[in-house]
Amino acid sequence: MPNTILYDDGTHRNVMLEDFDAGGFAVQANQHVIVHGKEGMILDPGGHKVYNRVLTATFGILGGAQLRHIFLSHQDPDIVAAVNGWLMTTDADAHLSQLWTRFVAHFGLDHLVEDRLKAIPDSGKLLNLGGVNLPVIPAHFLHSEGNFQLYDPVSKILYTGDLGASLGAPYLQVEDFDQHLRYMEGFHRRIMASNRVMVAWANMVSPLDIEMIVPQHGAYFKGKDMVDRFIRWCSGLQCGVDLIVPTFKLPVA
Ligand code: FE
Repeated sequence: MPNTILYDDGTHRNVMLEDFDAGGFAVQANQHVIVHGKEGMILDPGGHKVYNRVLTATFGILGGAQLRHIFLSHQDPDIVAAVNGWLMTTDADAHLSQLWTRFVAHFGLDHLVEDRLKAIPDSGKLLNLGGVNLPVIPAHFLHSEGNFQLYDPVSKILYTGDLGASLGAPYLQVEDFDQHLRYMEGFHRRIMASNRVMVAWANMVSPLDIEMIVPQHGAYFKGKDMVDRFIRWCSGLQCGVDLIVPTFKLPVA
């Protein structure tokens, strides 16, 4: 499928890359590029199996713009594994939770580029892209302990990383929320940390003006009704430590 333009006003563009599936056993992951004027950024660029294709596609989308930022929502391999390549081939800074910068170095971070891997404090920060400030907002324990989402105030897209992720849905955009639950419910019950943190997230993002919620795996949610529906579903979900205790039994032969 071709790249999907999520937003384009002539100056500002949000592009979801063609489905560069890592193939077979590897989990499907979305990559996103945002361009504002002469600067661009990539979100969660992925691992080695997609590195060459994502890099080529990103440069195609950037056109004459310069890659300024690499946003890494958390430390999972499907997000950060190829970060050394991205830092070696571009002049961009990569941004990752302060919890993970020294762990990600184990993927093989050349000392020439390690000062461009920037730690994000727990409270988040703003990333300037061509004069626009994009808030990096805390979403810890959803699912990673050091986890961030990115809000784009121009397109009004909230990029939620693993929150809202679905596996196996045969479409790009969620049309029927109830039918879509089958693709995301099990994942969220097991991966997200607890209802308490889901409620905290829902309360934090509810005042934001959001037109789309775009996760790192699977389909996106478009329109205020669908966005509200998703946020309400999150705040009502029992997950993680709410449910895991009964599995704490020693395995028997
Ligand atoms: Fe993850």
